[in-house]
Amino acid sequence: MLKKILNSGTCAECRLCCVFDRYDVWETPVFTEKIRDIILDSKPGTEFVSKDGGYIFKVGNLSDDGLFSCPALTETGCMLGDEKPFDCRIWPYRIMEINGRRAITIASICEELYNRPLSQLVEFLKDGLADEIFSYADSHPEIVKPYYDSYPVLLFEKKPL
Ligand code: SF4
Repeated sequence: MLKKILNSGTCAECRLCCVFDRYDVWETPVFTEKIRDIILDSKPGTEFVSKDGGYIFKVGNLSDDGLFSCPALTETGCMLGDEKPFDCRIWPYRIMEINGRRAITIASICEELYNRPLSQLVEFLKDGLADEIFSYADSHPEIVKPYYDSYPVLLFEKKPL
């Protein structure tokens, strides 16, 4: 979905958004049942927790500096290919709820996009991506995260929830 502004080769080399620490647990992707089953076929021991109609993978106890990877991450990248969860297809854009209104924010950890001019990031949203994100969230509200204050807000939805 971000092919126009984000080079897939850059993502393949980075993979930062597929590795988490204990403070990022809220940021792990939300899987549909179909995606959960694809992962289970390949990694039967993976444990999931249901979340508002979707699934997130279960994270065990972690030390302060412990890291954990998404179970879909393999040596050669994400095993899901074009079936990646919506969360991952729009990364580093995020959809969050702020005081009863949905907004699209951006994660600063993705240097590739975060260092672009703000106008370019917003323009891309206005070019159809924002509508696509809000529309998907209408049918999959589990992808909407509570607002996290280090995430700059790029665009508010016009209508309140
Ligand atoms: S589903 Fe794929 S792209 Fe998303 S966090 Fe996991 S490995 Fe990364």
